[in-house]
Amino acid sequence: MGELNWAGNHEYRAARIVRPESVDELRELVVGARAVRALGSRHSFNDLADTSDLLVSTAGLPASISIDEEARAVTVSGGVRYGDLARELQAAGWALHNLASLPHISVAGAIATATHGSGDRNGNLATAVRGLRILTASGEIVELRRGDEGFDGAVVSLGALGVVIDVTLDIRPSFDARQRLFEKLPWEAVTGRFDEVTSAAYSVSLFTTWEEDTVALAWLKELDGGSPIGDDFLGARALTEARHMIPTMDVRNTTQQLGVVGPWSERLAHFRFEFTPSNGAEIQSEYLVPRPRAVEAIEAVRALAHVVAPLLQISEIRTVAADELWLSSAYGTDAVGLHFTWVRDQAGVEAVLPALEEALLPLGARPHWGKLYLDRDGLVPALYPRLGDFRALTERFDPEQRFRNAFLARLLG
Ligand SMILES: Cc1cc2nc3c(=O)[nH]c(=O)nc-3n(C[C@H](O)[C@H](O)[C@H](O)COP(=O)(O)OP(=O)(O)OC[C@H]3O[C@@H](n4cnc5c(N)ncnc54)[C@H](O)[C@@H]3O)c2cc1C
Repeated sequence: MGELNWAGNHEYRAARIVRPESVDELRELVVGARAVRALGSRHSFNDLADTSDLLVSTAGLPASISIDEEARAVTVSGGVRYGDLARELQAAGWALHNLASLPHISVAGAIATATHGSGDRNGNLATAVRGLRILTASGEIVELRRGDEGFDGAVVSLGALGVVIDVTLDIRPSFDARQRLFEKLPWEAVTGRFDEVTSAAYSVSLFTTWEEDTVALAWLKELDGGSPIGDDFLGARALTEARHMIPTMDVRNTTQQLGVVGPWSERLAHFRFEFTPSNGAEIQSEYLVPRPRAVEAIEAVRALAHVVAPLLQISEIRTVAADELWLSSAYGTDAVGLHFTWVRDQAGVEAVLPALEEALLPLGARPHWGKLYLDRDGLVPALYPRLGDFRALTERFDPEQRFRNAFLARLLG
């Protein structure tokens, strides 16, 4: 058995996986490879990172985090994980606008796939990118800044342009937050008062298996200083004990709940950096629906509860603010993520996805790039109005198409 991704549902087909320890070593490897891709922390669930020849892990490259207080920016090497970055920023009195559910992922790997947390006014993690430096197939390092031609196409890059050496991110002064969980939110509140539900806190996530009479958990991350919601949230009751969103999992893996105020770095992710996030034995899929179609999409998945629930550990519904990044799942529209943490049964999940995609893709839902999706009818390319521009950008950065892999061939033709 060869090397696997984090979830163990994809075996890398690359002939070699190497771990360069300097940018010069990386450059030599990239220039000499027939086909090449960067590998981050391996948290994707499909073949997006893979290639036939050389996979270069960014984990061994020098890790640097450099804060520019005056510019309100941090420059961080691509292989650094959000958990390490968050600790360093917090120690210096600074913050990012949001985190994904887990802090274990690499910065460059996360932005390459438009990884996101939740919050009506929070763009995905890639929207914090102000600049980046990319080592291209020719060995040249290209620097792009927000506002430069092509920048909006180069941030959510799917790893297609080269290896991101470092990125510069917007930062803001550190802030405190608290998490409160409410159980049994009536579906009528979700479908009838969706905006009220998702705008109730800085970040709102809803957890469900779709087949219960109510939504099992509403997970609210509130900023400290605002007036907290009472013990009743639109019919859901505040929990008085901490809870994992997957009932069989250990609650110690989750960040502190029960309204205890703490720094953003210890509250915005659901999972603690020190522990295994989520379950570990799992596969994930997620579809980002344009916000105006969200309730329709939720109803459609509820109607499929009997199909999805047998393979499902938990689903999460969350929101992402619109942006202008060409391959972002929130390009040009506020979006609502319908996320599925499946059991680790590849064949079983692949048997369920067609029904789900038949319901969601026609609503304009964009699959998360880093999670498992099928798109048997080839609907996904048409969901990205700037895909042609992105293709042209890849041809400019990588004329010999050495960063092109099977995943990109399916998407770009
Ligand atoms: C338990 C778990 C929870 C998750 N929770 C969330 C969540 O809350 N929100 C969400 O949106 N997603 C979530 N994800 C998905 C995850 O954030 C994405 O798959 C992300 O892309 C993983 O980053 P990575 O560093 O592991 O990338 P990898 O899987 O290693 O690679 C992903 C892509 O990034 C590219 N890449 C990596 N490094 C570089 C680089 N330096 N330069 C150029 N390209 C690069 C690769 O080539 C590949 O195309 C979760 C995944 C897991 C396993």
